[in-house]
Amino acid sequence: MGNQTNELPVRRVVIVGGGTAGWMTAALLAKAFGPRLSIRLVESDEIGIVGVGEATIPQIRHVGRFLGIAEDELLRASRGTIKLAVQFNDWRRIGDSYVHAFSDVGLPLGLAAFQHYWLRSRREDPRAPDLWAYSICARACAANRFAPMENVGGSPLTGIRYAYHFDAARFGRLLRRNAEGNGVVRTEGKVVDVALRGDDGFIESIRLHSGEVIPGDLFVDCSGFRGLLIEGALKTGYESWQHWLPCDSAVVAPSEHGGTIRPYTQASAQQAGWQWRIPLQHLASNGHVYCSRFVSDDEAAATLVRNMEGPALAAPRQLRFHTGIRNKVWNRNCVALGLASGFIEPLESTSIHLMQSAAGRLLTMFPDRGFDPALVDEYNRQTRAEYEQTRDFIILHYKATERDDTPFWRRCATMDVPEGLARRIGLFRRTGHVFREGEELFTLMGWLQVFIGQGIVPERHHPLADALPKAQLDEFLANIRTLVDRAVAAMPTHAEYIDRHFKAAD
Ligand SMILES: Cc1cc2nc3c(=O)[nH]c(=O)nc-3n(C[C@H](O)[C@H](O)[C@H](O)COP(=O)(O)OP(=O)(O)OC[C@H]3O[C@@H](n4cnc5c(N)ncnc54)[C@H](O)[C@@H]3O)c2cc1C
Repeated sequence: MGNQTNELPVRRVVIVGGGTAGWMTAALLAKAFGPRLSIRLVESDEIGIVGVGEATIPQIRHVGRFLGIAEDELLRASRGTIKLAVQFNDWRRIGDSYVHAFSDVGLPLGLAAFQHYWLRSRREDPRAPDLWAYSICARACAANRFAPMENVGGSPLTGIRYAYHFDAARFGRLLRRNAEGNGVVRTEGKVVDVALRGDDGFIESIRLHSGEVIPGDLFVDCSGFRGLLIEGALKTGYESWQHWLPCDSAVVAPSEHGGTIRPYTQASAQQAGWQWRIPLQHLASNGHVYCSRFVSDDEAAATLVRNMEGPALAAPRQLRFHTGIRNKVWNRNCVALGLASGFIEPLESTSIHLMQSAAGRLLTMFPDRGFDPALVDEYNRQTRAEYEQTRDFIILHYKATERDDTPFWRRCATMDVPEGLARRIGLFRRTGHVFREGEELFTLMGWLQVFIGQGIVPERHHPLADALPKAQLDEFLANIRTLVDRAVAAMPTHAEYIDRHFKAAD
């Protein structure tokens, strides 16, 4: 053992930015550290927030639990609804539709994964039920039903896994109340200057338009795409992923509901991008994500409005973005979180999760004032791995298309993809195997559904799936379908569930 002592502890944390990233980081840090940290958050009303972010993935449920916000309260306050899946329309071909649902699909039998039994059934009879007949979330989506359920009673089947749709601005206000309740001090004002220490270039303080100077030990850059500290002051650099994820624009607007409040997000492919529909309690959020090289802003806005299910409630709002990642998301004493750290487009609603995960990592690896380079490197390595795995999953949706009706889709179908993704596609196509890399975000079931949904059909299946007599295979599969359908039939509709549990008064 050496005789080193710890460096001085970090006492003053300064967060720049009050979007979802800023308030989530503030709330999580304040809850974890309590009065041991003094946390200041600076945000500028004049600049405002992106505030789109209405769809999430199941890990979001940990945030409420950690902060002590009950689920019904969270969903009432944020006008939330339940999300069981994303429905992808027209991605593989026009007219085609599949879902990426959050629950498990089927059951393993012995050593072979479920898909091998299902693949055998389809090979023997192409009209055999599709993969989604074995997914409780997919079946609940088809019936517009929902009930929380860990397991399917009296069976080994796992139950529902779900996430939320919510109004990001209202969710942000909830986080803010929670953070302020735990001692976070908010300052409204615009940061106009960042002072660096002469000897090592660490951030010493920020200066506001009012003249106030705020010093800190650790600075968290949640200032959005501009990356005021990480890029503006520290010139960290940005790695572009636009050659793989070419969409660079979005146009968004809320509308009235078309009727049913679906328990899933819809993502419908368009000429040069895709459009989302996200059901909230009081309205539907719509956004058209597109590549500005292939479609004009006016055309994109017209498509957005044409595909709304009800009348628009506001004029379309335009956003530009650049997919990629900061060269280092942690540089010196500055950690970038949210849009300041990078952006993978919203197709699988991963941004809020990536910031939640990064904030959790910051808690786990919280530094002292020595900012040990080994710690910083490890944080950067883990964050980058998570971003790259998420990126590859999204690229798969674009790459594995049979569409050739527009230059955009032809480009996607013929583009090169990262080596790891090419390997995975090859393995699945030839053998039906899907493996998860380390602690990656997306589950085997997620990969499986997108592979199959996008039309990648394996050439073979596991030999053990052939060992089962045909009658036993049919019985095994039929039993799962019956259990899934019975469980779904017993659920209330999504609308009934909302009414009973978290319907907002206005
Ligand atoms: C088209 C689109 C769709 C999306 N959909 C989803 C989705 O469905 N699900 C999901 O999880 N995520 C989604 N996202 C991502 C999500 O919107 C963001 O992750 C989220 O809004 C967090 O943003 P942020 O807090 O990093 O930045 P912002 O919301 O941009 O906030 C930046 C903050 O920094 C402050 N600031 C900036 N400069 C200064 C300054 N000089 N002085 C003081 N304050 C300053 C601003 O006032 C603001 O408070 C989407 C993003 C886009 C672009």
